[in-house]
Amino acid sequence: MSNATTEQRSRIMRAVKGRDTGAERAVRSLVHGMGYRYSLRHKNLPGKPDIVFPSRQKVIFVHGCFWHGHKCARGDRVPKTNRDYWQRKIFRNTERDEATLSALRNANWRALVVWECEIKDRDSLADRIQKFFGAAKIAGFLSSTRARTRV
Ligand SMILES: [Zn+2]
Repeated sequence: MSNATTEQRSRIMRAVKGRDTGAERAVRSLVHGMGYRYSLRHKNLPGKPDIVFPSRQKVIFVHGCFWHGHKCARGDRVPKTNRDYWQRKIFRNTERDEATLSALRNANWRALVVWECEIKDRDSLADRIQKFFGAAKIAGFLSSTRARTRV
C-alpha cells in the first residue's frame, strides 16, 4: 500500500520536473557503491548533468525514456491524446540533448547517458559504468599482467 503511494508520488514528481528523480537516486547509489565519488555542485556545465566527477572530467546523465525519446518499449509509449504535442516536445528534448553532449565534448568532458530502462539490470549497468570510468585503467592493468607472464 505505501509502495503504491510512493510510486504515485514519484510519478507526479516526474511529470512536474520532467525527469526521473528515483532513477537518478538509483544510479547515484550504484556509482557510490562502486567507489566513485561525485559532486552535485557543477550546475554551470552544459545540460546541468545529474552526476559530476570533476577530477575525471566526466559526467553521467540519467535520462527518462519517455522525455528523452529512448527507442525502447517505455520510450515509445507516446500518449494517444495530443500526440503531436508530445512528439514535438520529445523531439526538442532529444535535439537539446545532442547539443549538450557536443558542448561537453568540445569542453573536454566525457559523458555517459544512462537510460531509465537500464536501471533494472544493475549488473550490466554497473559494467557500462565501469567501462566508462575504468577502460584505460583496466587496459593498463591487462597489458602489465601480460608483460609479467611473458617474462
Ligand atoms: Zn529506455
